[in-house]
Amino acid sequence: MSQRIVVAGAGHAAGQAVATLKQLRHAGEIILVGDEPYLPYQRPPLSKKFLSGDMPAQRLYVKPESFYDDPQIKLHLNTRIDAIDRDANVLKTSGPDIAYDKLVLATGSRVRKLAIDGSDLIGIHYLRDIDDVKAIRSELGEQKRAVVVGARPGWRSP
Ligand SMILES: Cc1cc2nc3c(=O)[nH]c(=O)nc-3n(C[C@H](O)[C@H](O)[C@H](O)COP(=O)(O)OP(=O)(O)OC[C@H]3O[C@@H](n4cnc5c(N)ncnc54)[C@H](O)[C@@H]3O)c2cc1C
Repeated sequence: MSQRIVVAGAGHAAGQAVATLKQLRHAGEIILVGDEPYLPYQRPPLSKKFLSGDMPAQRLYVKPESFYDDPQIKLHLNTRIDAIDRDANVLKTSGPDIAYDKLVLATGSRVRKLAIDGSDLIGIHYLRDIDDVKAIRSELGEQKRAVVVGARPGWRSP
């Protein structure tokens, strides 16, 4: 019997997992669940060409929209996974419950928010997703000085 594989995350790893399952001719349903409103996308250009406005959002996508226009694939975007019921093989989400035979966890990482005085002031942005970049870009040009916080110790730009 063909199995239903649910991929939790909808980031780059999740998008690539779906593409690989298709390539391997997985016969059952492939369901992608992610809490962002976008198709799986690559983050590296967010701080580069997408930030400078030289790349449209569609070019960030791991696979074009047409790739998901496939009866075997179901997308649940804007959907947060709140719990995994491993006894029942069901995901509890902000939308419908989603049953799975196999579950791929590709939920990535999160931005580490600063919990210090002033961290909620206007003009402070995090750089993690497409919407963060849209917010930063809307202020570029108006501001004379930008400070970037967060660097790997010992890392130097090539
Ligand atoms: C600005 C920026 C620039 C980068 N530049 C580079 C670079 O130049 N080179 C490089 O190698 N790497 C770079 N990286 C890192 C690289 O983008 C990450 O390693 C990569 O995104 C990891 O992909 P992922 O799919 O594993 O996780 P993620 O991209 O974190 O995707 C996980 C997805 O799962 C979703 N999710 C999490 N929990 C839930 C839940 N409970 N319910 C539903 N959905 C959920 C998240 O919202 C997210 O959409 C950069 C990252 C950023 C932010």
